[in-house]
Amino acid sequence: MSTHTPVMVTERVGYFPGHVNIGLVVGNTGAILIDSGLDTQTAKKIKKGLDAITQPLTAIVQTHAHADHFGGNAYLLDCWPEAKVYAPPLEEAVIRNPILEPIYLNLGAEPLDDLRNKFLLAQPSRVDDLLPLEGDVEIDGITLTILSLPGHSWQQAGIVCDDICFAADSYLGEELLAKHKLPYLVDAGKTLDSLDRLLASSYSGYLPGHGVFATAVHDVLEKNKEWHLRIYDTIEEILQVEHTLEEALAQLCERVGIAVETVSSYVLFRSAFMGYLIGLHREGRIGYRLSQNRWLWHASVRDQVAPPLDEER
Ligand SMILES: [Zn+2]
Repeated sequence: MSTHTPVMVTERVGYFPGHVNIGLVVGNTGAILIDSGLDTQTAKKIKKGLDAITQPLTAIVQTHAHADHFGGNAYLLDCWPEAKVYAPPLEEAVIRNPILEPIYLNLGAEPLDDLRNKFLLAQPSRVDDLLPLEGDVEIDGITLTILSLPGHSWQQAGIVCDDICFAADSYLGEELLAKHKLPYLVDAGKTLDSLDRLLASSYSGYLPGHGVFATAVHDVLEKNKEWHLRIYDTIEEILQVEHTLEEALAQLCERVGIAVETVSSYVLFRSAFMGYLIGLHREGRIGYRLSQNRWLWHASVRDQVAPPLDEER
């Protein structure tokens, strides 16, 4: 973040740009933040930004419970103890108990020390109120509309105010897609549904959690869809031969040019891969079986029994 002052897009709605964009809605008595960034260092910049516009913090509205979106809460709530925290159901459990993130990434087991870094394990924060999954909520005299945008995380919320949509991590900026290659998600099918939902919307502006503010997002949303659908196809191709999740993941990484270097990245890719398998399985495109104590995944339609090209598959 190069500047402490927020970028305003309407009279009362703006954002602090950064690796994680933080939304800002100026309420009747102070500032409402949408997410709080990764850590104390980020939170200190936000504090300066709020001081610069002479607004105290009245609320933090969380889009979802990833460490880089709520890691700034602890510091900000120390500065403004009376501020309220709002979060979607289920996500709130992780915000209050951040150890759950390294736990689920470690297959539910006690996390290794390598998984206890600030990118996966934020400081805990209280949550005062649950957001509705869908619909309007009034905070500090301002009506916010909550959109259910699951897929990247279980109950991720998009937040709309003054016709500006804070889209959380429902889509990534194009250059970030290319950088991440295998975007984090928990359910590729729901990720695609959420992208369709945004494609059908026509707000006057959109801000993703990672990427740039834009008034027109049709192209970037389509790029995101194409990206996920291409990964679907590649996984289906790989599973023409039966593989365990880890074998298939290694092949996918090789094909898309990922060289995993840390256990932290590995577990994120592994969960994302499972999220794609879940989506493909729901569509009936892949199946699984247990054999010799291995959980094997396979494409439903194999090449050798594939229908002629003119038939739909
Ligand atoms: Zn996220």
